[in-house]
Amino acid sequence: ERAREVIESAARRGSNRLGVEAMELLDAYGIPTPQGEVVSSPVEAESIAEEIGDNVVMKIVSPDILHKSDIGGVEVDVPVEDVRDTYEDLVVRARNYQSDATILGVQVQEMVDLDNGVETILGMNRDPQFGPLLLFGLGGIFVEVLEDNTVSVAPVSENEAEGMLDDIDSAPLLRGARGRDPVDEDTLVETIQRLSQLVTDFPAIVELDINPLVATPDGVQAVDLRLTLD
Ligand code: ADP
Ligand code: MG
Repeated sequence: ERAREVIESAARRGSNRLGVEAMELLDAYGIPTPQGEVVSSPVEAESIAEEIGDNVVMKIVSPDILHKSDIGGVEVDVPVEDVRDTYEDLVVRARNYQSDATILGVQVQEMVDLDNGVETILGMNRDPQFGPLLLFGLGGIFVEVLEDNTVSVAPVSENEAEGMLDDIDSAPLLRGARGRDPVDEDTLVETIQRLSQLVTDFPAIVELDINPLVATPDGVQAVDLRLTLD
């Protein structure tokens, strides 16, 4: 099983913090992720960008860097001709932040249309008493400011997952407030259930955050991932 392999290879590296290099875990559970890959050289980065065939997003991949954009570790809308230079820039910024940081490489990722989407957060925190607590709420830059989220114990049924959408204050935003098209709620509910299954299958995951999980009228895209193993 691919999911197990991702977790075991992290354990072999002696790393209990995983980031976007573990996106395969989400793929394995049918949670959609943007096209992309983690590479370890500017030339490889360029060839992935050419494959994607459009401007890309580039992110530093390091277990020592938790909030990539805080250190200038995320560049969006990078044209193919700038990909090689941007690779070097990201590595320099990471080194400036922490000279001995472990750098696994750079993720080159397809751009997701945020204008037609809502940035949500979908996460899990394993509570010693209650077990895996799923968290769903408004994501992106709003997480800390608005703190609009709801919590449910995994595993969740379809009804419970639907209830989580209803629960947040920003529910109208998902349902097409201000003349926007409503997001694909069925896929969002399904995604909550898929994550519920993932954290139920892997008790070794003590903490996990998909932030943002971009919800659009056409589906969802898990754009960023961070998780901790015990
Ligand atoms: P971090 O949370 O570690 O700073 P993210 O991967 O979440 O890194 O990227 C930060 C922000 O950059 C996201 O919240 C989103 O607004 C934007 N972003 C990241 N990846 C993409 C993408 N593929 N398409 C569009 N915007 C993106
Ligand atoms: Mg993020």
